[in-house]
Amino acid sequence: MNSTLETLKMRLAEVVDLQRAAALLSWEQQTYMPSGGAKARSEQLATLQGLSHRLFIADEIGGLINDLKNTSAQWDYDTDEASLLRLVERQYERERKIPSQLVAELASTTALAQEAWALARQNDDYPVFQPHLQKVIELTRQQAECFAPYENLYDPLLDKYEPGMKTSEVQMMFDGMKEELIQLVDAINSRSDEVSNTILYGEFDIEQQREFGLRVAKQFGYDLKRGRLDETLHPFCTHFSIDDVRITTRFDNEFLPSALFGTMHEVGHALYEQGISPKLDRTGMDTGVSLGVHESQSRLWENLVGRSRPFWNHYFPQLQTFFPDAFSTVTQDEFYRAINRSEPSLIRVEADEVTYNLHIIIRFELELDLLSGDLHLNDLPSAWVEKYKDYLGVAPNNDSDGVLQDIHWSIGAIGYFATYTIGNLLSVQLFDCARKEIEDLDADISQGDFDALLHWLRENIHCHGSKFTPGELVKRITGNSMDSRPYLNYLHNKYREIYKL
Ligand code: ZN
Repeated sequence: MNSTLETLKMRLAEVVDLQRAAALLSWEQQTYMPSGGAKARSEQLATLQGLSHRLFIADEIGGLINDLKNTSAQWDYDTDEASLLRLVERQYERERKIPSQLVAELASTTALAQEAWALARQNDDYPVFQPHLQKVIELTRQQAECFAPYENLYDPLLDKYEPGMKTSEVQMMFDGMKEELIQLVDAINSRSDEVSNTILYGEFDIEQQREFGLRVAKQFGYDLKRGRLDETLHPFCTHFSIDDVRITTRFDNEFLPSALFGTMHEVGHALYEQGISPKLDRTGMDTGVSLGVHESQSRLWENLVGRSRPFWNHYFPQLQTFFPDAFSTVTQDEFYRAINRSEPSLIRVEADEVTYNLHIIIRFELELDLLSGDLHLNDLPSAWVEKYKDYLGVAPNNDSDGVLQDIHWSIGAIGYFATYTIGNLLSVQLFDCARKEIEDLDADISQGDFDALLHWLRENIHCHGSKFTPGELVKRITGNSMDSRPYLNYLHNKYREIYKL
């Protein structure tokens, strides 16, 4: 056994333990902590995160990486050892480039910005948030500049969430999709009377919703001995080890889809984390490879499985027994069309599969203009409104439903939005591959049997954790790079049938 490698792994395990302890504290904060605990909790989190960062960027780790580079030539590219060294070197170089002072300044700036954002959103008062956003953007720009040279100042920001992805690639992909999506939205709009979703509004007992959601989660393969479901305002998935992967959801007793599809979405994330090879535990490779690939897993289960006809062949009769008042006289076809209704709306998180990516493209374009200085913050709310009119044909009449709706910019998450669309595109590319390799996948899903699909995802994606870059992983599975064509074809086929286009 290579003792340098063992030492490196020991150091990394300490870093991972601190990060997981911080994740547990923040899960607890969002689920059970009394509000009075907030101040102490933020200090505890800052201590743990600061400590893990310091341990990780220590000279010792750099020395171990250098020593290992001399021996690593004998390691095969696909081995856990070679992958570990590639990943750690990349992260180490990245983390060392940002001065600690800038990290601290960003942390305190975003803590205040988040408060200001919440207040501004509540009171529809963009000017309260603007100076904070100004500072966040300025610091974010400084942070990106630490990574010079780059093709685009936005590259290092995107790279943080989607390693290896270039701004120019995303730009080309989004430009290629935009017109086609706008045309599809228009075509659907002209036939909006075809589909109604009023049956999804009513009285839906929360205990019944929870039981149905858990039934589906278990059948998807979510292992509740290594996970649990709690309630939060904003649903999420988090993990403290591959044997403790938790999800949260939000129940609305008057609108069924929120918890129904929200739960399937988070289960998709959880299945990824639960499926990572135990050999990668506590190495830092024991987590999903990027936000985009993670989102591909949640979207695959939520949309490609959960909003499909085969899925409801099996589950609609069961759903009728859970909610007889709402659905006993509804047909499966009516229900399927209702859950897939598409309509331009103002709020991203409520958007359907067709319009969702336009919400993302708008944010991506605005971020690029803000970073480059082409767009001044005074003009951001009106630029937002103009883009919504152009792309979706709707416009908010207040900033709370417009530029203030998302938390991302206030927490410094600039470069993040694009990964939602990357996830959508990848979900279809990957599902298409699974469909080719699994004999009659639709028949399995029609019987509520997801074993073959989960097995395929485990083998091709989950087990690898972060061993490969997102680009490498997609290439290994599909033989291609990321591509928007399969996703657009999927939308056209699905919505042509639903809206009789
Ligand atoms: Zn997600």
